[in-house]
Amino acid sequence: MMSDEQIVVARCPACRARISCPPVIMPGDFLYCQECHRRFEVVSQNPLVLDWAAEELNTSYIDRY
Ligand SMILES: [Zn+2]
Repeated sequence: MMSDEQIVVARCPACRARISCPPVIMPGDFLYCQECHRRFEVVSQNPLVLDWAAEELNTSYIDRY
């Protein structure tokens, strides 16, 4: 196996801050940027790519039911 000492760092799509993430991460996981306080979804593991979390687009417009 590869060394587990490797540090995985993602780049925030919003503010370009570095986001440290666990060595084992899978598409569908969420990472939190402590610089701009947003959550991002992991869309690709290798290379590590983040995308805006879908929940950013979800407005609760059905709360009248
Ligand atoms: Zn950020």
